[in-house]
Amino acid sequence: MARIVGAEAGDRVVVVSATAGTTDALVQAASLAAGGDAAAAQQIIERLSERHRGLIADLVGVDGASALGEIADLTDRTIALLRSVALLRECSARSLDAILSYGERVSAPIVAAVLNAKGIAAEALSAEGLLVTDDAFGHANPLLEITRERVETQLGPRMRRGTVPVVTGFVGSTVDGVTTTLGRGGSDYSAAVFAAALGARECRIFTDVSGVMSADPRIVADAKPLPAISYAEAAELSYFGAKVIHPRTVLPAIEAGIPVRILNTFAPGDPGTTIARDTPRDNTVVKATTSLGGLGLVTVQGAGMSGVPGFAARVFDTTAAEQISVLMISQASSENSICLVVPSDSVTRLDGALRRMFSRELARHDVEKVAIESPVAIVSAVGEGMRGTPGVAARLFGALGRARVNVIAIAQGSSELNISLVVSERDRETAVRAIHQEFHEGSPGDRKGSAT
Ligand code: ASP
Ligand code: MG
Repeated sequence: MARIVGAEAGDRVVVVSATAGTTDALVQAASLAAGGDAAAAQQIIERLSERHRGLIADLVGVDGASALGEIADLTDRTIALLRSVALLRECSARSLDAILSYGERVSAPIVAAVLNAKGIAAEALSAEGLLVTDDAFGHANPLLEITRERVETQLGPRMRRGTVPVVTGFVGSTVDGVTTTLGRGGSDYSAAVFAAALGARECRIFTDVSGVMSADPRIVADAKPLPAISYAEAAELSYFGAKVIHPRTVLPAIEAGIPVRILNTFAPGDPGTTIARDTPRDNTVVKATTSLGGLGLVTVQGAGMSGVPGFAARVFDTTAAEQISVLMISQASSENSICLVVPSDSVTRLDGALRRMFSRELARHDVEKVAIESPVAIVSAVGEGMRGTPGVAARLFGALGRARVNVIAIAQGSSELNISLVVSERDRETAVRAIHQEFHEGSPGDRKGSAT
């Protein structure tokens, strides 16, 4: 990290996350405390504290005195919080945020100490009082205007002095100063908020992969990192299982016109992936192929349904009442059937609920059947280049046909940014490989045999 920060000459603000596993351990401590087990909760915090003190000893030795002091204070405070949670046997979202902030708050002084030891003037700062949010504890929403003012008064002078602020990610506070968090994985969100508040040139997110890939490398050996994707493409990809970032979290930067780069901490020289509002024009059609498994398909079918208003509404009233999230919908224009893709563990429940909802229609044979098919997977081809390009679907289905993949259902958003197909779970990997090969691995003329 010090090498990465040191390599950059311009002004920078470093936003840090908690160390690996720390936030999970804090969640566990809070839940033990809520169950009344103060001792077990305390033990977890002490173990975390020890691990972080060990990091300081390994990284900076005696130069870590002030970081050690800070960790000791934070540890005492967090143990006190957990004790009161254990007494009350209740951990509110507000208390949990205060407890979870420990992870980032112990991380920042360590990083600052390391930077200082390497000759980069740095100062650790808690984002409490700096990143101002509403009071939606556990998933607080940043208030950009106030945050911008605070950033200017608090970070501005430090940066002008040449000090690199090392700020806690994930954490914020209400206008009144009560600690909040932005939700799990929220450090990216913090980074994007700070980038927007500072009017930064770029927001760089260092993770453990070299950006967003054209397909899951575990499925496609030839998958390649994508140099640039648009925000809309990033949103589609993450929805269908690409786990690099949660696009919502980088939105503040994108809206401010600041590009977000996903880079690899362990290979910082790799170009990574730049996410920006608009993607530079290139000649790719399908940029990435992704898939999501563990799903089931529920079909409601019957000739008596076509032209009957309110039919689809009743189908979705059913999913809403059962609180089942629907990942994909498709209806033929004959209106003979509606298919829904839902998580496979809710298939049976939805099937039963639909049978109850349409019991009269089933008896009259207006609805012929409610059928389930599980497990299935959604395979999606994503790319802005698909918009207005004729023949994409033909190539896609041609490739799947040659690979002998049976397509159960299809949906394309009118944004033409993605085509999604439902296939049987056992065809999932073959389908991803076939599409990837068609669009990424050479022109149709020099295709290397059929995918098997
Ligand atoms: N430490 C927080 C979490 O684990 C935030 C983050 O890692 O981005 O969710
Ligand atoms: Mg994390």
